[in-house]
Amino acid sequence: MIAAAHPESVTIVGGGIIGLTVAHYLVDAGLKVTLIDKSTIAAACSHGNCGYICPSHVLPLTEPAAIPLAIKSLFNPKAPFSVKPRFSPALVNWMWQFARRCTERQMLTSGVALKAILDSSLDEYKRLIAAQQLDCQFKTNGLLYVLRTDHGFDEFAKTDSFLTDNFGVTATRMNGSELATFEPALKPGLAGAFLYPGDASVNPSQLNQSLVSSLKSRGVEFRENCLLTGVKKSSGRITHLETSQGELPVDAVVFATGAWSTKLSSTLECKIPIEPGKGYSVTMTRPEPCPSYPMLFPEHKVGVSPFENTYRLGSMMEFSGYDESIPAHRIQQLQDSAKPYLITPFTDQKLETWYGWRPMTWDSLPIIGQTPRFSNTWLATGHNMLGLSLATATGRLVKEMILKEPTHIDPLPYSPTRF
Ligand SMILES: Cc1cc2nc3c(=O)[nH]c(=O)nc-3n(C[C@H](O)[C@H](O)[C@H](O)COP(=O)(O)OP(=O)(O)OC[C@H]3O[C@@H](n4cnc5c(N)ncnc54)[C@H](O)[C@@H]3O)c2cc1C
Repeated sequence: MIAAAHPESVTIVGGGIIGLTVAHYLVDAGLKVTLIDKSTIAAACSHGNCGYICPSHVLPLTEPAAIPLAIKSLFNPKAPFSVKPRFSPALVNWMWQFARRCTERQMLTSGVALKAILDSSLDEYKRLIAAQQLDCQFKTNGLLYVLRTDHGFDEFAKTDSFLTDNFGVTATRMNGSELATFEPALKPGLAGAFLYPGDASVNPSQLNQSLVSSLKSRGVEFRENCLLTGVKKSSGRITHLETSQGELPVDAVVFATGAWSTKLSSTLECKIPIEPGKGYSVTMTRPEPCPSYPMLFPEHKVGVSPFENTYRLGSMMEFSGYDESIPAHRIQQLQDSAKPYLITPFTDQKLETWYGWRPMTWDSLPIIGQTPRFSNTWLATGHNMLGLSLATATGRLVKEMILKEPTHIDPLPYSPTRF
C-alpha cells in the first residue's frame, strides 16, 4: 500500500492551549481531529495563568544574571524562585544544562528564536479571534512594567534599551508622576513604568472555553478522562494509542502534553527534558480602584491581570516535581507582593486559588517538530512561561509540518532533535 502524502486524521494528546490551537489549524485545513485528555479539557496549566500574549518577552530565562539570582533565592524562603531539595538526577542535569546556557551569546540566540514565534503568534491570535469570533476579553492595550525604586527603574531601563537595540522591541517610558495619572489604581510615589504597547491579553479560561465551542462546532471530537498509557508501534510509525478508554487506531499523533511530556521519553524513544516549573495564582473579585492595564512588577516578580468581572495575581517558579499542594503562605506572598504598588492590591472575596506546572526546557525554547523515531508523530510542548503567547504559531507550524507545507517561520530552533 502506498502511504498517503499526508494523514487525513490526527489525534492530539493533551487539551491545554497548545493542543487546542493545534486542533484549530488542523481542522481548518480539512483534517479529521480527535483530542484526548486524561482530565477535563484545559484544566491544567492553561487554566489559571496571567493571560498575557506578550511579544515583549523575547529574553529567555537563560540570561547571565540568572545563576547569581537563583543562588541568592535558595537562601530566601520568600523568593519567588525555589528548588525543593530531592534526589533527582534528571533535575540535576536540567539545572546543569540550564546553567551552561546562561551567557549573553545564548541569550541572544534564544531571543531571536523566541521573537520569531512570539510575533507570529500575536498576528495569528488576531486572525483566529476575529475569524472564529472568540469571546475571550482580547485586549491590545499593552503590558505595563511598573518599578517601585529608582534603582529598579534604572536597572529595567538597561533591559529596555537592550530589547530595543537587539530586537526592536520598544516601550513608552513614564516617570512616577506621569504614571500616577496614567494608571490611577497605582499608589503615588512609584519610580516609573515602561508600557509595551505591542503586547495583548485575554482571559485564558474564557479563551479555552470559546475555542473548545468553536472546535466542537467544526467537528473536532473531544475525549475527556482518557489517559494515554502506551502506544503500539510498527515500521517506524505509531499505529495505536493505548488509553484508559481502550485502544485507538491513529493515522498521525501530536503530543501536546505540557509538563507531563518528559514521562513519554521512553515511549517516544527521544529525549524530552522538561521539568515542571510550578506557579500560583489567586483570582478574586475586582478591587476598587481596579487597574485598567495588565501589569508586571519586575522587582517582586508578580503579575496583575484585571479581567472584566474578576482580578488575578500570579507568580512564582518552584522546581518541586509534580507537587500538587497550594501552601497558604505562597498565596499570602502573592498578595503581599502587590501591596507596595496598588491602592487596593487584593480583596477578601477569593474565587479561586490555583497552581500550574509550566513545561520548562533548559534552553527556554519550546519543542515543536516530528519525533526522530516515528514518521507520523509530532511534539508540541515545552512552552515554558509563554505557552499562551506561543500557542497559535505553534499550532500553525505543526499543521504546516504535518501537511508538508513550507513553514511560515524557521522551525529548526524548536526541533526535538536538538537534545
Ligand atoms: C502562574 C502562571 C502564570 C502564567 N502566565 C502566562 C502568561 O501570562 N502568558 C503566557 O504565555 N503563559 C503563561 N504561563 C505559562 C502557560 O500557562 C503554559 O506555558 C501553558 O499553559 C502550557 O500549555 P500546554 O497546553 O503545553 O500545557 P497544559 O495546559 O498543562 O496542558 C497539557 C494537557 O496534557 C494532558 N496530558 C498530559 N499527559 C497526558 C496523558 N498521558 N494522557 C492524556 N492527557 C495528558 C494534561 O491533562 C493537560 O490537560 C503561566 C503559567 C503560570 C503557572
